[in-house]
Amino acid sequence: MLIDQYGRQIEYLRLSVTDKCDLRCAYCIPEGFTEFEKPTNWLSFDEIERVVAAFARLGVSRFRLTGGEPLLRKNLPDLVERISALPGVTDLSLTTNGTQLPRYAQALRTAGLGRLNVSLDSLRRECVHALSGKDSLDKVMSGLQAACDAGFERIKINMVPVPGVNTGDIDDMIAFCIAKGFILRLIEVMPMGITGQSLDYFNLVDFIHDISPKYQLQPSHAIYGGGPAQYWESADGRFTLGLITPRSQHFCATCNRVRLSVDGTLYLCLGQEHHLNLRPLLSDGCSDEALEMAIRRAIDLKPERHEFNDKPEQIVRIMAKTGG
Ligand code: SAM
Repeated sequence: MLIDQYGRQIEYLRLSVTDKCDLRCAYCIPEGFTEFEKPTNWLSFDEIERVVAAFARLGVSRFRLTGGEPLLRKNLPDLVERISALPGVTDLSLTTNGTQLPRYAQALRTAGLGRLNVSLDSLRRECVHALSGKDSLDKVMSGLQAACDAGFERIKINMVPVPGVNTGDIDDMIAFCIAKGFILRLIEVMPMGITGQSLDYFNLVDFIHDISPKYQLQPSHAIYGGGPAQYWESADGRFTLGLITPRSQHFCATCNRVRLSVDGTLYLCLGQEHHLNLRPLLSDGCSDEALEMAIRRAIDLKPERHEFNDKPEQIVRIMAKTGG
């Protein structure tokens, strides 16, 4: 088992398979950004599979592919097939902006992908355009339909409410999610890179107090993925809302995850710089024991908590680099 120096068990690895994206969300990749990782520095599928297998041997059972936009990585369903077949991998999921799902949803399902999160910040075309930098609503909607057709259930919709931009859209998003059987997750903007630092966050702790009577929401004890979201459910069971509150109520004491970026850097916290680069070991053809030892050493570096509120200017890495 992987236990950090604060007694937290690490049971979840998020892997960024590319830092590139076809969208430019206002809180994520800056317009005109060009400092993407060179393909020569990317971990190969063989290397990613080795890292996942090592984590699985160390007791980690849950893995998520993310980015950047993970579906821009060529042949991603092949990687899904390889990871989902590894012993010890019980939960494999993907976070995507949905634009490539019409092409890949069925192949991902066939390859063994279990769960899907799709990012969508509004149902208004002009708002999606303004927030994502592209007129992408139709593509995302087609992607969601393709995912449903492929058999994905209880899809989670990730929405980042930005005050004055799309907070007025939450009711429509709730109605949409009820109609489609999706779980809505609201995420407070994190001050990552100049994009995240340039926007206010929407306080979700205050919001839930205001909105819970309207939808008769009660705190839920059901587990929907074992992440940091606190879930609320409507009395009739038709709607589930997840809140991710890194700013208004941080959840670092129960943090159970680490992140691997496309260049093989293992980041121990979204909001701190502590990291260890596994790529030199992997490209030197290290033994499985050496790889496991390096992972254990890295886990010892995991800091107690992020400092998004105390030092919001601290993290210059954009979310797409770390793997959101
Ligand atoms: N491209 C994929 C997508 O759009 O879902 C996966 C990567 S994206 C970085 C993963 C999630 O991070 C998305 O739901 C996005 O909304 C969220 N995100 C990006 N930057 C963020 C920030 N500064 N604060 C909070 N959430 C952020």
